Amino acid sequence: MTGDKTAGDPVVTPPLEPESRPDPGSVSRHARPGLSGLADGALEEWLASEGQPAYRARQIRDAIWRQNAQTAEEMLTLPAAFRSRLAHAFRIDTIVEDEIRLADAGLTEKTLHLLSDGALIESVLMHYPARGFAGSSRPLHRERHTLCISSQAGCAVGCPFCATGELGLGRDLETAEIVDQVRHAASRLAATGRNLTNVVFMGMGEPLLNLDRVLEAVAILSDPRQFGLGARHVVVSTSGVVPGIRRLTALGPQFTLAVSLHAARDPLRDVLVPLNRRWPVAEVVAASRDHALATGRRVSYEYVMISGVNDTDVDADALATLLRGDLAHVNLIPMNPVAHTPWTASPPERVAQFAARIRRSGVGVTVRANRGQDAGAACGQLAADRAGELPAAAVARRRDAIVRQSEAALRGGRSSEGLSADLAAAIRSGAAR
Ligand code: SF4
Repeated sequence: MTGDKTAGDPVVTPPLEPESRPDPGSVSRHARPGLSGLADGALEEWLASEGQPAYRARQIRDAIWRQNAQTAEEMLTLPAAFRSRLAHAFRIDTIVEDEIRLADAGLTEKTLHLLSDGALIESVLMHYPARGFAGSSRPLHRERHTLCISSQAGCAVGCPFCATGELGLGRDLETAEIVDQVRHAASRLAATGRNLTNVVFMGMGEPLLNLDRVLEAVAILSDPRQFGLGARHVVVSTSGVVPGIRRLTALGPQFTLAVSLHAARDPLRDVLVPLNRRWPVAEVVAASRDHALATGRRVSYEYVMISGVNDTDVDADALATLLRGDLAHVNLIPMNPVAHTPWTASPPERVAQFAARIRRSGVGVTVRANRGQDAGAACGQLAADRAGELPAAAVARRRDAIVRQSEAALRGGRSSEGLSADLAAAIRSGAAR
């Protein structure tokens, strides 16, 4: 294909046709706040202003988090007149489960949620059966049910291997819209006698560009009066928002930090994770290293394996050099196919060789299984499907640019392209100041 660019050539990714992007102006916010996302003390304050006794707060939280009430009418411990007052002041539920697709023989449930302004987001519930009985009746690994949730509708970062990145940023999610994804999944599990055990912020969006809302959501999820999930069972990922990582470090250990690395060399990471043009990989890893040292918590580095792009021995060695001696663990994930890229997942034998090379340097590594291949596994794929097919010419131009960029990067040429206007605006308005 187009190997006509020299290593130093600037390469520019053509924007997709305007009609293929969500219209940010079409996003209108709902006036009533979501009940499940109220900050600590806000519910008590409102109850006092309504002349209600303080114990109503516990009744309401129990209804939200223990009975998974989705309407005020289901909150039977409250007086009927007060239920209608509550429904008038707050949205009891902020998301609708618009479509659920099962994959992996039922072990993966991918859900498309419709928000009140028409925005679409995704969550993925993954079931991990108990395994490894060591000669006793107790399993070595207990049954787990992990929910991957979204923090934004769409994403401004624009990683070219990600379906969400192609959608662009719609908007930040409200706190209630984040935690209601958890309420819905927990409710579905409870109906079959199971509990949600882990929550990971690895769905649509860059969590650290909506950090205030994400921190509020984590506080609610770990509050024993609300969802009560232990901090060790929550993972927040970032593609490398360095000021956000530093802010988390200052706050102390609240959850596990995961960094979506995907490349250890700047020229390639500029292409795979465009945020790298703002915070290069060494800065990202330095901030993550400080986080691990300050919190005593190992940082996870996620690495999507793309055949012939970031899975070479040179890349493995660069990754090992970058992380050697750190409190770090690498997760290798074969890429999920998405329509707008020509790339495919690295073959299993290449992934195994890559993993072995990193392991030899003393860095821990795990090869993760791909989940949800038969249900539009790529992050944002369901929402992208719903948005409709991109014009063929736009897809062809996008593929062409991605190949040119990655070929130049593999020759060591660093793109002179700056941040996209969307990403620069998202950084300005996000937690990255
Ligand atoms: S991989 Fe994550 S950060 Fe990159 S575009 Fe997709 S959602 Fe955004």
